[in-house]
Amino acid sequence: MKVFRSIKKQQQYSFKEKCKGRVIGFVPTMGFLHKGHLSLIDKAKELSDRVIISIFVNPLQFAPNEDYREYPRDEKMDLKLLEEKGVDAVLIPELNEMYPNGFETYVEVSKLSKDYCGRSRPLFFRGVATIVLKLFNTVQPDLAVFGEKDYQQYIIIKRMSRDLNLPISVIPSPIVREEDGLAMSSRNLYLTPSERKEAPVLYESMRRAKELASKGERNVKNLKKEMVKFIESKKYPRIDYIEFVDPENLKRAKILQGPTRILLAVWIGKARLIDNMEV
Ligand code: AMP
Repeated sequence: MKVFRSIKKQQQYSFKEKCKGRVIGFVPTMGFLHKGHLSLIDKAKELSDRVIISIFVNPLQFAPNEDYREYPRDEKMDLKLLEEKGVDAVLIPELNEMYPNGFETYVEVSKLSKDYCGRSRPLFFRGVATIVLKLFNTVQPDLAVFGEKDYQQYIIIKRMSRDLNLPISVIPSPIVREEDGLAMSSRNLYLTPSERKEAPVLYESMRRAKELASKGERNVKNLKKEMVKFIESKKYPRIDYIEFVDPENLKRAKILQGPTRILLAVWIGKARLIDNMEV
């Protein structure tokens, strides 16, 4: 397994592999890898000849009051897992090469970035889109796999890719959960044991809404009300948002008709957890 810390070396490797006609699959991550990340790698392996993973905690997507410094990192463990997985190359770019002095160029997917997670994190998706485009330019993949765990992010990257005519397929991969339904996330580490016990409330509330919908409830207001009631019956959670949206363009739905996605963000202690589900 190759480990590249220089952008140029990574570009040279990708260029050579592409010249040999190999399909490059890419999975960008912030490291501290778990089974959710590994499932994306499996998907990339299925679809490509060479799989490249990046590990980079991107300061541009953290607000000053957020957890950039304390975000969990364990490069040694990550490299061990990736080696076992049999990935071909890992890109771990240096901060000062990614963001050289005087950096001032950003990518903004304007409307899709404003709502939902963008409300409480106004510059978050600008940071995400910018780093993903920079990583795409470095790795030059044919396809890139993104987790549905971060559903709004996946839709935004797909939009960016279309809007900027990138020759890259953006592929979704399903959410990997703990046994009790909590979506795996590096940030679950922030939960205390008693908060952790209540954390499956996100999944459970969506499951309940889905069940009500399957029994014929079509009114989103009523479905949301049930979710809020359930979540607020617990001790720790504080709801950031719950929305029912069109899975393609993320427009809000008032009535369930055709495919709809529930998106939600809930604070539990100092962890802001997000999750989503198709209904
Ligand atoms: P992160 O390291 O949190 O930036 O995530 C890197 C990639 O892994 C993103 O595409 C995430 O959506 C994806 N991912 C994170 N957690 C999960 C999960 N539980 N299931 C599926 N994909 C995930």
